[in-house]
Amino acid sequence: MRIVLLGPPGAGKGTQAARLSARHGIPHLSTGEMLRHAAETGTPSGLRAKRLIDAGNLVPDADVLGIVATRLHDADAARGYILDGFPRTVGQAEALDIMLETHGQALDAVLELRVDLSALVSRVKARADAAAAAGQAPRADDNATTLARRVNAYLEATQPVSDYYAATRRLSPVDGMATPDEVDAAIAAALARRPTA
Ligand code: AMP
Repeated sequence: MRIVLLGPPGAGKGTQAARLSARHGIPHLSTGEMLRHAAETGTPSGLRAKRLIDAGNLVPDADVLGIVATRLHDADAARGYILDGFPRTVGQAEALDIMLETHGQALDAVLELRVDLSALVSRVKARADAAAAAGQAPRADDNATTLARRVNAYLEATQPVSDYYAATRRLSPVDGMATPDEVDAAIAAALARRPTA
């Protein structure tokens, strides 16, 4: 099963992707995680990505697409995957469609977690607090200033991705303001409604 999870920062994509991954036995592929990992390696492209991430800006499509194309070829992705944080631009969505078509594949579901933008600041603050409580360093981009940029990037670049999938009748909206268990159940129901389910 190939699933795309869309939604603004703090919508709960990571939580739901982890649950879907466990339930369906397919990997959770987060481009944010992949880019943070690339940044840690200290390569020139990793360091460039780090500057953009820390400022709350998007990493260029070409860099992200290179990482995703390589990761989708890994053996554990052969049966499917959950894409979290990708695609974030219409260019990435188009490139993903081409990648899939080349392999005679298609997405099974595009789930959009819809949340009130006013709830995002407190959700991201809760994530930073939880990391601190667990003795981990919070993400450098989980602060109010950077979050505002990330939300802007979402509205400008990623909202059109929802329209792209809606135009081809592939978008399943899910109420992301509900509790994690309720969102989980709504996602399961949306997947069960798929024509091929
Ligand atoms: P996330 O972990 O999904 O919140 O992503 C953290 C940051 O990584 C984003 O704010 C972007 O700077 C960068 N990023 C993650 N995924 C993408 C993507 N698909 N395209 C461009 N930038 C991305």
